[in-house]
Amino acid sequence: MKHFSDELWADFVRNLAPATTAQAMQKHIEDGCRKCEAVLKGWQSVFRIAQAESGFSPPEDAIRIAKAQFAAVSSVQQRRPVRLVFDSNLTSETRAAQGLKVRLLQRQQAVSDTTTNQHGEFQLEFDAGADMCLSIGHEQDRMVVLPIYGVHSGLGILKD
Ligand SMILES: [Zn+2]
Repeated sequence: MKHFSDELWADFVRNLAPATTAQAMQKHIEDGCRKCEAVLKGWQSVFRIAQAESGFSPPEDAIRIAKAQFAAVSSVQQRRPVRLVFDSNLTSETRAAQGLKVRLLQRQQAVSDTTTNQHGEFQLEFDAGADMCLSIGHEQDRMVVLPIYGVHSGLGILKD
C-alpha cells in the first residue's frame, strides 16, 4: 500500500492538494489506512487549535511545523543530530505564539524542553529515534501533539 506524505496531508487539510490527489487521499482514508488517518488527525488538530488562538495564523504555522519535520528528516539522512527549527516571520500575528512550551517526547518520556521566543521560533536538537513526538502549548486541552514520522523511513510516498 502506498501512503501519502505529511506535506500532502497538510495541503489536504487546507484544501490545497490537487483535486485528483485529494480524491485519492480521501479514498485512502475511507479504505481504512490508520497510519495516514493519524497524520490527518494531527493536522486537523493543528488547525483547530490554531484557529482558536487569535492571531495564530493556521496555514503559516502549520507549514512551519511541517518544514521543521522535513528539516528533521533531511538531517537524519545526513547522519547529523536532528534539529527542529520552528521558523516564522516577524509579524504581529506571531506574537501569540511567543512563550509556548515545546516538548520533545519519546515513548511518552520528555527528551527535551524549550519555549518559543518572541518571534514564535524554537530549536531543539536530539538524536534520531523511534516513537517521537512534539507537543506544543501549555494547557492540556489546547496542546498540539505532532508525531514525528520519517526519522527512520525518509520522506515522501512510503511503501509498507
Ligand atoms: Zn496510508
